[in-house]
Amino acid sequence: MKVVVDLSRCVGYAQCAFLAPETFRMHGEEALMYAPNPDDAQRDQVLRAAAACPVQAILVDRLEGRDAPAEASPT
Ligand code: SF4
Repeated sequence: MKVVVDLSRCVGYAQCAFLAPETFRMHGEEALMYAPNPDDAQRDQVLRAAAACPVQAILVDRLEGRDAPAEASPT
């Protein structure tokens, strides 16, 4: 899976590092380090971290864009 953090939005609340410590880690007080390609086994934790981020700075699997499988359309 792919993870991108918009570091211009990130305000260092560390919710993600608390919920998915294998993917997100605080470096010092405010700098966030993260693994851009965490193992799929981390998916649940990463999704929880993304949902918990107060500024929605964590994007999951967005890079695949056009190649991503289409989601069920609401028909
Ligand atoms: S939860 Fe969001 S704002 Fe907080 S450190 Fe993680 S990415 Fe940054």
